[in-house]
Amino acid sequence: MGTQEAEIFEDLKKILRYYEALGIDNIPVSLERDQYIDIDFSGDKNILLDGLREEIGDCTRCKLSKHRKKIVFGEGNPNARLMFIGEAPGREEDNQGMPFVGEAGMLLTRLIEKMGLKRNNVYIANIIKCRPPMNRDPEEDEIKTCRVFIERQIEIIMPEVIITLGRIALQSVMNNPVLKITSVRGNFFEYKGIPLMPTFHPAYLLRNPKDKWLTWTDMQKVMQRLKIEIN
Ligand code: SF4
Repeated sequence: MGTQEAEIFEDLKKILRYYEALGIDNIPVSLERDQYIDIDFSGDKNILLDGLREEIGDCTRCKLSKHRKKIVFGEGNPNARLMFIGEAPGREEDNQGMPFVGEAGMLLTRLIEKMGLKRNNVYIANIIKCRPPMNRDPEEDEIKTCRVFIERQIEIIMPEVIITLGRIALQSVMNNPVLKITSVRGNFFEYKGIPLMPTFHPAYLLRNPKDKWLTWTDMQKVMQRLKIEIN
């Protein structure tokens, strides 16, 4: 299969995954190429994301609901080519109901801009939607209960690349508790056909600024994959 055919095949896979996310399990018509390339899915994706947020509601499915102020659903462009997935909200995120708005969030924003993107070009979410008390690590039962929501967000957004931030996000998305971020970061994984790049969490980088360059090398690999010019 040539490069062009492989790209068309990848596009078709994404479209079929999108229909699957809508609950459609067969397509009764064949689409000519010219018919589908101009379809704008953004309205539908917003509806699907709004529907998912409604389904989460005032969630009490796990014990983290007891102490949270606000559910942090996620934000960004529903048509994003790039999706960042973190661990769980911190204090500022819990206060504001938005992901990555504290000091670590400012660092993430700077990183996104260094990549030549804007924060509203990408989609940002966490695997856990409510703040764990004292910012402790989320527990296994909490991850297991909340994980379905990030899975659905990924299915709806269908980014071209996912970046997981930190160990817990990586282990949770890949459903593999033995992955070590220090040994695997910088290497592409695959989540349901989507390339996934693990890198350090910005909060870790604030504590260990000497490792920022490692994250930047990871981002450069993502930029190459997305064909974003490196300045
Ligand atoms: S962390 Fe997730 S499952 Fe638990 S209460 Fe919050 S939204 Fe619900």
